Amino acid sequence: MNEYFIVSSFIIFIFSILIMRYFSKRYNIFVNSFLDSMDNISIITNSKKVVNINKKGLSFFGSSNISDFNTSYFSVASLFIEEEGCLGKHSLGKNWLQKIANNKDDSIRVKLLNQEDKEFYYFHIKVSKIASSAEYLLLFHNITKIVGETKKVIQLAEHDALTGIYNRVKLNMLFPDFIYNANRYDKDFAIILFDIDHFKNINDTYGHNIGDSVLVELTHMIKNLLRDDDIFVRWGGEEFIIVLQVASLLDASQLASRLRRNIEEHPFVHVKKVTCSFGVTEFRDGDTHMILLERADEALYEAKGNGRNQVVSK
Ligand code: GH3
Ligand code: MG
Ligand code: MG
Repeated sequence: MNEYFIVSSFIIFIFSILIMRYFSKRYNIFVNSFLDSMDNISIITNSKKVVNINKKGLSFFGSSNISDFNTSYFSVASLFIEEEGCLGKHSLGKNWLQKIANNKDDSIRVKLLNQEDKEFYYFHIKVSKIASSAEYLLLFHNITKIVGETKKVIQLAEHDALTGIYNRVKLNMLFPDFIYNANRYDKDFAIILFDIDHFKNINDTYGHNIGDSVLVELTHMIKNLLRDDDIFVRWGGEEFIIVLQVASLLDASQLASRLRRNIEEHPFVHVKKVTCSFGVTEFRDGDTHMILLERADEALYEAKGNGRNQVVSK
């Protein structure tokens, strides 16, 4: 009786395992074909490793199968490339899957490297917790085209069409940050405002197109004399601003003198000689960007009044 019980239990046990394996296999086949049918990269992962990824994802990440993928990549988060506005590897901490899953309204953007064409792509990522399991379904919706178009529009909105440098819109957006950093971190900055002398005469003598070419030539020349973190802006017609992000009045005034000399000595292609007048000032406690600009403008006005082609610091 006892032996009969043991043998039958064993047979039931083996039979159950076979049934479970059969259904689990069927289940996996079902999940795989479901994920593969999606146009988006689709991944199922727990907090440690990826347990499933569709064909689209495998080819995107340059893996031939799931174990190859898990050998190549430590986790899903390790795929995220750092960029402002995108989710980074460590941005949301350890429970990032749970956090995104709980915040359905947030549109989370990630940047990924496509191993097929070695290009960067942008995606909106959606995360859903799979009921009664520790796994999450991640869907990546490709938004690369729209991100590219948005970047182009931003580029056009923030840059001057003729010279390619920043325009007034961009500087007005940057000013609050400069002033915040100056007040909060003592990161004092200085500005140089300069204006071409008698530019109207250049237009009147040589024509508007030559006038335009002077603006372009001058801009290229100045750009080569600036540091990467200097902000160079076409503020209006023939008026420019340079923001020196960490600088004293003396630093800015020395740079302005150097620029003035370089412009004066530069043989411009069509008009030979061009000069500029400069107004220089630094950020002082309590300044708004309007006050700062007014002070620079007063200095420039003085430089013009004193005979042009000179630097006045205030
Ligand atoms: P000042 O030394 O006092 O600065 O004299 P100015 O002649 O340079 O100053 P004014 O303000 O009288 O003239 C500026 C001229 O710049 C007038 C305007 O037609 C010209 N200008 C503004 N923007 C452009 C541009 O994009 N291209 C060209 N070619 N000319 C421009
Ligand atoms: Mg002028
Ligand atoms: Mg002017």
